[in-house]
Amino acid sequence: EQDAMAQAEFADKARLRGESGALLGIPLAIKDNMLIEGVQTTAASRMLENYVATYDATVIAKLREAGAVFLGKTNMDEFAMGSSTEHSAFGPTKNPIDPAYVPGGSSGGSGAAVAAGLCAGALGSDTAGSIRQPAAFCGIVGFKPTYGAVSRSGLISMASSLDQIGPMTRTVEDARLLFHIMRGKDKYDATSTDQELNKPKTVEPKKLRIGVPKEYFGEGLDPRVEERVRDAISAYREMGATIEEIELSHTPYALATYYILMPSEVSSNLARYDGIRYGHSLLREDVVLHEAYTRSRSLGFGDEVKRRIMLGTYTLSAGYYDAYYKRAQKVRTHITNDFHQAWEKVDVIMAPTTPTPPFKLGAMALEDPTAMYLADVLTVAANLAGLPAISVPCGTIKEGETEFSAGLQIMGKAGEDDFVLDVASLYTR
Ligand code: GLN
Repeated sequence: EQDAMAQAEFADKARLRGESGALLGIPLAIKDNMLIEGVQTTAASRMLENYVATYDATVIAKLREAGAVFLGKTNMDEFAMGSSTEHSAFGPTKNPIDPAYVPGGSSGGSGAAVAAGLCAGALGSDTAGSIRQPAAFCGIVGFKPTYGAVSRSGLISMASSLDQIGPMTRTVEDARLLFHIMRGKDKYDATSTDQELNKPKTVEPKKLRIGVPKEYFGEGLDPRVEERVRDAISAYREMGATIEEIELSHTPYALATYYILMPSEVSSNLARYDGIRYGHSLLREDVVLHEAYTRSRSLGFGDEVKRRIMLGTYTLSAGYYDAYYKRAQKVRTHITNDFHQAWEKVDVIMAPTTPTPPFKLGAMALEDPTAMYLADVLTVAANLAGLPAISVPCGTIKEGETEFSAGLQIMGKAGEDDFVLDVASLYTR
């Protein structure tokens, strides 16, 4: 609170002096897996409960430079693993539209903060849908940029080949504003790229070719979600766009591929939390070293995190590596190639963001942890292929007395983030 007040005062004074900045005095909330110097950063894990960041994530440094005020850190699933924010070590976040429901996850705290009007915008991270799915559940805009478009330096890693930071906002133009400030090559992230160098491509609704993949409208899709999304696609047809049914034939394997590759990367990324270099530690004089490691990890990590570390350790182990990890990498290439083929025919791809409207708190997490994995079935391919993808609210769905929004997902070619934002704003403006 004190930091936020000090930043706000600084912004007020700068404004009085006639200074300006793209975000001068604009209050933002930050998912608690991004480092803000001097601020506790937990990734919603006991393991990092007392960790205070020693430097700013690159995105934070850039937003700070533009004058943003950081109101605080938002709740999330532990280490970004989950789709409901119920896997936080510090308790769940509720959906501000109706507190009996989850806000989605893992960036559920950011989604809820924006939907409740607590901040002008928030940052989320998306490894398989964690920006887009909570945006859909909370009725806001969530944008996952092209892999590498925004630096991951200072983001607590989950699965590094899939993780991407992005904005969660009320409008597409707000998302664009934050994205433009955050993007760009960063010497601290070797996978980052410079997109400003791309030649801008303008959208002409009459020349726009939209692909609608039939695999995204299959079994398990709530008919109300399907109807709202098809209505939204029709709105583009009325603007003059051509709609074409396309095939992304490896889509049925995307989720399985993700649940091999992601835990593999998780198991190696989370090896650093040994209770010595970071966080929760049981190292004492009377404890032998090996026991200090195992006890720090068994008490520091929650069940979902442990489950994934075990899965990943298994898929990377000698004897299983070829059968699982290596094969999943090959399928990932097929999934990426499906998209390459699609781009020969269409400019963007439209689909639902989530198969269902929000579910109730406690409805999924406890009985069968893998049931929740299905929440990512429509978002995960964009991460596997590194594509930009946005979710925008489209139409309403009634659950009892409560009205939620459906989410329209728009995916584009790698590097064409602005084009995807342009296409989204045709619908929302
Ligand atoms: N729900 C997904 C998972 O549990 C997505 C995570 C994410 O995008 N960070 O892995």
